[in-house]
Amino acid sequence: MERYICVTCGTQFADSAEPPESCPICEDPRQYVPPSGQRWTTLAELAADHENEIRAEGDFTGIATSPSFAIGQRALLVPFGDSNILWDCITLLDDATAAQVERCGGLAGIAISHPHYYSCMVEWAEVFDCPVHLHAADAEWVMRPDPVIEHWDGEQLELGHGLTLIRGGGHFPGGTMLHWAEGAGALLSGDIIQVIPDRGHVSFMWSYPNLVPLPQSEIERVAGSVEPFEYEAIYGAWWDRLIPADGPEIVRRSAERYGAALRGELL
Ligand SMILES: [Zn+2]
Ligand SMILES: [Zn+2]
Repeated sequence: MERYICVTCGTQFADSAEPPESCPICEDPRQYVPPSGQRWTTLAELAADHENEIRAEGDFTGIATSPSFAIGQRALLVPFGDSNILWDCITLLDDATAAQVERCGGLAGIAISHPHYYSCMVEWAEVFDCPVHLHAADAEWVMRPDPVIEHWDGEQLELGHGLTLIRGGGHFPGGTMLHWAEGAGALLSGDIIQVIPDRGHVSFMWSYPNLVPLPQSEIERVAGSVEPFEYEAIYGAWWDRLIPADGPEIVRRSAERYGAALRGELL
């Protein structure tokens, strides 16, 4: 038996003797199967020619795989008492990474923005003996069910130590962001509020690789979900996708611009 990993999205599947027939996450219009077709790997194969880069990213510690694998996101270690919450997840977990995360205080939990970053969440949770917090609205996208997964419902979940999970929706019905209340505050937004090249704006999409937008009602929902929170910085899902300050005004301004674009007012 093997736990196969989709090369395009990095998702690990439950034990099987043969590779799965297909990857539902990549066959969904919010991802894609490449023209060359579906390919599978395993954690051992991946570890043979990849490693994780771990370094400071703003107020947190980032972890991402090098060379880039699948969607290429970087996770963030967020302080949680004398331990950490892992915000978003990546596929590769090797001994060197586990040792370094342990030296930083280990993990008290894992929280993930949406199914594109579910990756190898169960492997991480087992190594660090911690739960994975996922929004229940996206439960159908879990490819390796396990008791470590704790689905939460509703609009917000307080994790403690100033951390709150916020359901934004948009890209996925359960699309989640993490608010960090320390200092000036920060919003860790995954793909739900997207940090884009112009750091004076953010954006919102239903499908990023396939460029399918969201309706006005969902833009208002996503922007409205973070309105009650105080923060300055917004951390996106890749290295250096970081807006250092003025986050709430940037989200408001961007939601207004998106609405204007949908109404044809930017033409
Ligand atoms: Zn996939
Ligand atoms: Zn995504």
